[in-house]
Amino acid sequence: MSEQQSIFVDGEWRSAASGATREILDPADAKPFAVIAEGGEADVDAAVAAARRAFDEGSWPGTPVAERAALLRRVADLLVRDREKIGLIESRDAGKTVEEGRVDVDCVADAFRYFADLVVGEGGGRVVDAGSDEIHSVVVHEPVGVCSLITPWNYPLLQASWKVAPALAAGNTFVIKPSEITPLTTVILVELLAEAGLPAGVANIVTGPGHTVGARMAEHPDVDLVSFTGGLVSGTKVAQAAAADVKKIALELGGKNPNVVFADACDTAEGFDTAVDQALNAAFIHSGQVCSAGGRLIVEESVRERFVAELARRAEKIRLGRGTEDGVECGPLVSAQQRDKTEYYVASALAEGAVLRCGGKRPEPSDVRPEGGYFYEPTVLDRCHREMRAVREEVFGPVLTVETFRTEDEAVALANDTEYGLAGAVWTADAGRARRVAGRLRHGTVWINDFHPYLPQAEWGGFGKSGVGRELGPAGLAEYRETKHVYQNLAPKPVRWFAG
Ligand code: NAD
Repeated sequence: MSEQQSIFVDGEWRSAASGATREILDPADAKPFAVIAEGGEADVDAAVAAARRAFDEGSWPGTPVAERAALLRRVADLLVRDREKIGLIESRDAGKTVEEGRVDVDCVADAFRYFADLVVGEGGGRVVDAGSDEIHSVVVHEPVGVCSLITPWNYPLLQASWKVAPALAAGNTFVIKPSEITPLTTVILVELLAEAGLPAGVANIVTGPGHTVGARMAEHPDVDLVSFTGGLVSGTKVAQAAAADVKKIALELGGKNPNVVFADACDTAEGFDTAVDQALNAAFIHSGQVCSAGGRLIVEESVRERFVAELARRAEKIRLGRGTEDGVECGPLVSAQQRDKTEYYVASALAEGAVLRCGGKRPEPSDVRPEGGYFYEPTVLDRCHREMRAVREEVFGPVLTVETFRTEDEAVALANDTEYGLAGAVWTADAGRARRVAGRLRHGTVWINDFHPYLPQAEWGGFGKSGVGRELGPAGLAEYRETKHVYQNLAPKPVRWFAG
């Protein structure tokens, strides 16, 4: 396998300055299928210098909004053109099914189109009434500058697009670092940006590890903003590094997301089927490796047994395998480390008294599950309680814990009993209760009788330790902007504050 030059600086593809490379593994069989550049601090310094020049001396920050929007739309079209190829690579890299990879590409194209429409639609600044015809006062937005964008492995292209699209729409330049485990589709995105006509130096990518490349991007004195999506531990380090220069930061961190099911949601056969189906989807899509995974089922005691029995019956039938195989519904975990972590949490919950209803082990290899792949069976742990580590901490694997409640207050208290606050759902046939509970949940997104949908128009982000700032929506663009008040006196006169 020959190395793909995956570092892009000032419009040119390169190898790492050190010459180091990294093998990218297919998590379905743990075998390498690509080799890319393993960048280091010298590569970050070169990329930041290029982004700095492109911001300070280049045309992009001053490019008319309509032209910036047109470029974003071209990128969306190119993504759609290459949908099959990108979907397949995302599947092999991140272990998701090809169909999930394709859906990700659609969502990414939507994000580019959304931010294009948003910047064009908003007009040029907000006129402030200063109370005098002799004053012209306007609030305008300008790009922040050079952005460091750092992304995780679970939705590599999607998470990159939620940063790249608004950063470009606002006129910034950037250096992006995808996860070292799943860098390939972000490399493709940067290729497409160049193909769409983005000037050299505006978009730069350095592939490499977090503790070197990511850390340097977070601390670099010539960087103005750091936007990070990933885990709480790395996010805290990024925030500390960025704080030294008071850089702007945005952090999209983990979640421990409650899925609250009231008994009345299960009163009809259709309601019961829907709530169970969506609880499965909430917990097990992409093998639970989703920041908003509904890994905590909080179900009313009176329906617990019926609900959990059906859930476990259906979870056992989920077809696990290589994401490129026909009929496979769930792929492997992304790495051996992620599978080991999942095993640890299951073992600890069982030791603390949880009852295993299904899963809890690695499946046997089969014609769609190669030997050596990082597969783990969808697992339902009943009789859990909030002191268990599997209930409190982000597992990021196919594990659903079940807790129960008797009253609405108890349901809300359980759902809010987390240091995170990313997303949560409430299932009920009572519209009043739905709104009451949604209003009391301390989470950045609350779904009522649904789980997982998000809209590019609606902000995404977390309360508590789920992060700082928002992606998507108008606030997702605002992260990448400075706000400036320009006050013009049309008839200047002395103020005579000082007599002399
Ligand atoms: P991670 O924190 O290990 O890594 C994320 C990125 O940060 C990677 O690119 C990594 O190389 C880099 N990194 C690691 N240490 C760093 C450091 N010291 N300085 C700078 N960069 C560093 O996270 P992960 O395991 O890749 O992703 C899973 C996590 O991401 C989960 O916690 C998940 O909830 C979270 N996530 C959150 C959202 C959201 O929207 N809130 C979305 C997706 C994933």
